[in-house]
Amino acid sequence: MGIVNRFLLLTLCILPSCFVVRAFADQAFINEQPVMAIIIDDIGDNRSKGLAAIDLPGALTYAFLPHTPYSFELAQRAHDLGKEVILHAPMENKAGLRLGPGALTQQHSSQTLSQILNGNLDAIPYAVGMNNHMGSLLTEDRQKMDDVMSIVRQRNLFFLDSVTTPNTVAWKAAQDQGVPFLVRDVFLDNQPRRDYIHNQFKQALSLAVTQGHAVVIGHPYPETIAYLSEVLPILAHLEVKLVTASELLSLRAQPSLVVAHQPQREPLCGDKTLECGSAARTIKQ
Ligand SMILES: [Zn+2]
Repeated sequence: MGIVNRFLLLTLCILPSCFVVRAFADQAFINEQPVMAIIIDDIGDNRSKGLAAIDLPGALTYAFLPHTPYSFELAQRAHDLGKEVILHAPMENKAGLRLGPGALTQQHSSQTLSQILNGNLDAIPYAVGMNNHMGSLLTEDRQKMDDVMSIVRQRNLFFLDSVTTPNTVAWKAAQDQGVPFLVRDVFLDNQPRRDYIHNQFKQALSLAVTQGHAVVIGHPYPETIAYLSEVLPILAHLEVKLVTASELLSLRAQPSLVVAHQPQREPLCGDKTLECGSAARTIKQ
């Protein structure tokens, strides 16, 4: 282990994870070791950033934007490297941010929404689940979420609620339809700066220790990739296991316990939406 990584390990060891790891693990977990799932969103628009993200070491999950120039190729590569692939479904937001192809909006009838979502899923090879890209408007709409979850259920997938609004009903719709679901705990890089990402990662570690699991979402920003390339190899030293989203689901004894806590309310990035972290930076090449 190099000097830089030893220093990073030392700063992360300030957490209780180095001292009392298993004492607080969620009893719902068969596995006593705290687990963390990291999902990298917004893959597909930019080839080099996507490749850099997919080449990160370990059991990561990648969320692909449908009908984007590199989503098919990169999803294939991720699968070949043993990574997990999910659809990153664009959903209408309150800020009027551009959604890109395959967007689901409130204007769509149930039938149209189903056609678009099925088309999105068909476009991403090896997708075993999906999460929402943006969606602060649509994920508050119970009828639309019921429409989404009926497709997710039909296709035997899982749903990860990205929680881009505190009033999301997406996970509740999934729960009510018996769809396996997860809820995002921490956004890693709403501010793509190393010090911010480091603090968010420490919060994620702390959550993993106290509740037994943490669901973390990041983006293929150079700062995020650089940080994760340093921290992932030392995760084992912190006694936290990196797992894919579906592995986390399979470790869970009682699905409802994953949302027993309130999703984290980290500082928003600039305005009143949680979505800016995944907006402007991902569209350009
Ligand atoms: Zn996104």
